[in-house]
Amino acid sequence: MALCKVKRPAGFLVSLYRKEPDLRDGNMENTMALDILQRIQVGLDEKRQNVTEFLETASEEEKDVCLCDDTSCIEDHIHVIDESLEKIENHTLGVCEVCHGVVDPALLEMDYTASVCLDHYTDAERRRLESELELSQIVQRALLPQHMPSISGVEVAAFSRPAEIIGGDYFDFFKFRDGSHGLVIADVSGHGVSAGMLMSSLQTSIQTLAPYADSPAEVLERINHFYIHNINFTTFVTVFLARFDPITLTLTYVNAGHNPPAVFRSESSQVIWLVPTAPAIGLAEIFRPRTESINLSKGDSLLLYTDGVTEVFNTSNEQFGQDRLAELFLQNMHLTAPNILQTVLQQTSAFGDTLADDLTMVAFKISH
Ligand SMILES: [Zn+2]
Repeated sequence: MALCKVKRPAGFLVSLYRKEPDLRDGNMENTMALDILQRIQVGLDEKRQNVTEFLETASEEEKDVCLCDDTSCIEDHIHVIDESLEKIENHTLGVCEVCHGVVDPALLEMDYTASVCLDHYTDAERRRLESELELSQIVQRALLPQHMPSISGVEVAAFSRPAEIIGGDYFDFFKFRDGSHGLVIADVSGHGVSAGMLMSSLQTSIQTLAPYADSPAEVLERINHFYIHNINFTTFVTVFLARFDPITLTLTYVNAGHNPPAVFRSESSQVIWLVPTAPAIGLAEIFRPRTESINLSKGDSLLLYTDGVTEVFNTSNEQFGQDRLAELFLQNMHLTAPNILQTVLQQTSAFGDTLADDLTMVAFKISH
């Protein structure tokens, strides 16, 4: 199959393939295309599995809440995924409808249903794509908060380390319309450019929407709508988004398929898990998140984390897991928020290789 000879703007190529080790290889384009097709296949398999698992395992009540009692939206989604998987099998995914060459791998990675190569785009369309990509990389680096928010009576600490140049993890602090504090932690499934782009656009979306919203559910509903209808990424995003009222110490949240944050109750010395109340973003067409809230008291702590913390494996192939995390959390509750994070990082690093995945944690402690 001939590769479509696309005149790529230099910046576009460099920024996309920065991390590819075999740039000078004679078969560069073939290698990249295969690599990306494999990545798309893995991403689609994972996405399909998550979508079908949700359909099979969710209770009727959950389905009613999350899909508004209508599974056709999610079935349509599976249909598109299956068509694309079939095309990968038949070696027709990414074949250009115009010239029958191969669609630019970068385009394909951004949208697995892309069927026209970059060469046939107008200059204006091409410029838009380039600037979106470049902007997303700049934005991702710049947007991670440099300072912790100042909330009276609350200690806040955060740690984030990407496994590669572009990370798929994200945390942020922001304000809702009424001035109440918002916090978010998220994890994009998959790796590479598409995961990084998705993360950056999520950051920007939340920063843009939250000041005009009253609740976590409102923000996530709009974001899910945007991702389902405008972006054909192979990946989806798990997000925990909360609103904190420092007067009543109430945390109101939606957990969209994210690893359950742990709340340590100082009075009862118990750990409570804030389990998912909605499917991950980009999973279901109709998204009806359930909002939950929890009242915190002095001495209580909240630990938000991504799977880079719990899915660390030791040499016996055992996972660090939620139980060890809860145990560690219980033993170290007297510590300050930054020291809790430091201890978790030390213990997980001693347990196994924490550098294999993006790793992000946020600790939140009610100090008085
Ligand atoms: Zn073409």
